[in-house]
Order: sequence, then C-alpha cells, then structure tokens
Amino acid sequence: MYILIVDDSPVVCDIIENCLNEAGYTNLLFAESAQSVLNILGMNQPQEQQTEVPEIDLILLDIILPDMDGRELCRLIKGMNRFKDVPIIMVTALSNIEDLEKAFNAGAMDYITKPINNIELLVRIRSALKLKFEMDRSKKREQHLLIVTRQLKEAVAKLNQLSSLDGLTGIPNRRYFDQIIQKEWNRCRRNIKPLSVIFIDIDFFKVYNDTYGHQSGDDCLKTVAGLLQKVTRRSGDTVFRYGGEEFIAVLPETAYKNALMLAEKMCRKVEAAGIAHAKSPVSDFVTVSLGVAATLPTGEVSYESLISAADKALYDAKKEGRNRVRGGNPEGKE
Ligand code: GH3
Ligand code: MG
Ligand code: MG
Repeated sequence: MYILIVDDSPVVCDIIENCLNEAGYTNLLFAESAQSVLNILGMNQPQEQQTEVPEIDLILLDIILPDMDGRELCRLIKGMNRFKDVPIIMVTALSNIEDLEKAFNAGAMDYITKPINNIELLVRIRSALKLKFEMDRSKKREQHLLIVTRQLKEAVAKLNQLSSLDGLTGIPNRRYFDQIIQKEWNRCRRNIKPLSVIFIDIDFFKVYNDTYGHQSGDDCLKTVAGLLQKVTRRSGDTVFRYGGEEFIAVLPETAYKNALMLAEKMCRKVEAAGIAHAKSPVSDFVTVSLGVAATLPTGEVSYESLISAADKALYDAKKEGRNRVRGGNPEGKE
C-alpha cells in the first residue's frame, strides 16, 4: 500500500518525504510528471499487462505539472475503475486557490497549500487514509455478502433439485413423478398388475388468475392439491403436481374402472369444495377436468403410452364441456 506523491519539484518531494517518514509512512512513490504517473499506474499499458501496478491508497497531486494540468490528470485517474476510490489531495500554491473548483469537479477530495505546513499535511493525509480504509473495508464486506448470497442461492437451487416436493403445493413434484412412474411401471409389469393414471387439469384457471389475482391462484392450487390428495387413500397412490395447474395421480395395482371411480370422486370433491370462480363458464366454483387411462404394463411399450392416453382423455373431457371425467384406456381392457 503506497502513497503516491506527484510533484516536479525535488525540494517539495523532499519536504513531503521527510514529513511522512517521520510520521511512519514509509511506502512512498514519487512521480515528477503526468507521464510518470501514467507509467506507475499502468494507465498507458493494455489492461492485461497491468498486473504489476502497486496498490495506491492516496495520491498527493501537484496542480501544475510540466506535461499536463494536474486537474486533468486527476480526472483521468478517477475515470479508471480501479482508481476511482483512491483519494486524491491536490497540492497548490495559495495563489492558485481559485483554480481548485475544477480539481474538485475532476474528483479531488481535498487540497493543501504550498508552502507546505507539516501538521496540516499530516492531518489531511490521515483523514484521507481513514476514509480510504473504511471504503475498502465496506467494499470487502459487500463482496463477502455477494459471495455468501450467491452460495446461498446455489444451495437453495440444489436443495430444490434434490427435493421431491413441489415448492408451492407441498405435494410430490414432476421430477419425483418421473422416477416413480418408471418404478411402478416395472413393478406392475413384474407382478402382472394393472397401472392406472389420472391426468387432472383445473378448468379456466387463466380466467381464475385474471379474476382473483395470481396469489389467489396459488392458494387455489394448494387447496386443489390437498383435495386430490385426500381422495387417494391407498398407500402407493400418489398425486403429483405435473406442472402449472395440472396434476397426475399414479395408481399402482388399480384397475381401469376403479381409477374411473376415483377420478369421478376427485371431480365432485373439487367442485363441492366451493372455491368461488365467478367467471367460469361451467360452474360457480373451481372445477377440474380429468383423463383416465390404465394398462397392464409390458416390455413392448413404455409408460409414456399410458400417459399420452390419459392426456388424450383429458383433452376429450375439456372438449366435451369440462368439469368431467373421460377415459382413454389404450387397450380397452382393465
Ligand atoms: P382450460 O380449462 O382449457 O385448462 O383453461 P386454462 O385457463 O386452465 O388453461 P391455460 O393453459 O390457458 O392456462 C393455465 C393457467 O394456469 C395460465 C397460468 O398462468 C396458470 N398457472 C400455471 N401455473 C401457475 C401457478 O403456479 N400459479 C398460478 N397462480 N397460476 C398458474
Ligand atoms: Mg386448465
Ligand atoms: Mg393446463
């Protein structure tokens, strides 16, 4: 950490050096011209070669330099991102004091007058350094906070990824569904048992959001999720949030007609909950449409054919007026 003293007069440099050395400031750099400052600060080299630039805590800058106006140099230094927080104290003869306005506009923080008074010099240097250290400390704290915040965000994202529950409704999520459906498919195939699924989609939910607001929409999703979950009582039956306002129930070892009955129950239960949906064309309350499909899993097809059959049945339920159940048993058997 250095103090950079910029003055073309060796006498002035000597006075400042002695004064600062006596006060314990020994890391001093000297420049006799603007060009030399630019060299020291690496400002006339390309960015990638600026690694050797010393850390500067403070610059004492003569207002009159042989090759450039000190105030212009001040503006140049302050314009560099890496030096914008380095305090600059202008050094000026008393007779030039009216020229200081431009120096302050250029970013200078303070000034001292020539001939230099040692006590004044030290007081101003101390307060400038104090300010610089405080700024550095708060900058470090800010950076630390940014790092911690980022780490926290990454941890939360990772946790969400590992979690099998949907953040909004608290019921199992889509990611978990992808694991379970494959597992249940294989299990039912081994045991030669039927596997049923029910696709459930809230009717006119966009209108619901538009009418009652997104927050109420979220509350509605939570309520519907809870209702659907309550209907499936057998262990092994699971309702997942499939995405948006769509849910899917996986019912292992459940025959087609039983799945249809369960779907009817879900349909009635949601409407009976009486969640007002004033602008729904099909009911005064929130309703759902449901598509059911069942199959005996085999090695020839994947579970995707079952899901797409349920999806198609759901589409039929929507097309035929919503608030109803439609079946789409892919093979027409239990
Ligand atoms: P349909 O009866 O044909 O299913 O009509 P719909 O309006 O329910 O279907 P559409 O797919 O047009 O709109 C679904 C809406 O669900 C739009 C979207 O903003 C809303 N939605 C999806 N996820 C969420 C959520 O997490 N919270 C809320 N509040 N709304 C959601
Ligand atoms: Mg919908
Ligand atoms: Mg939908």
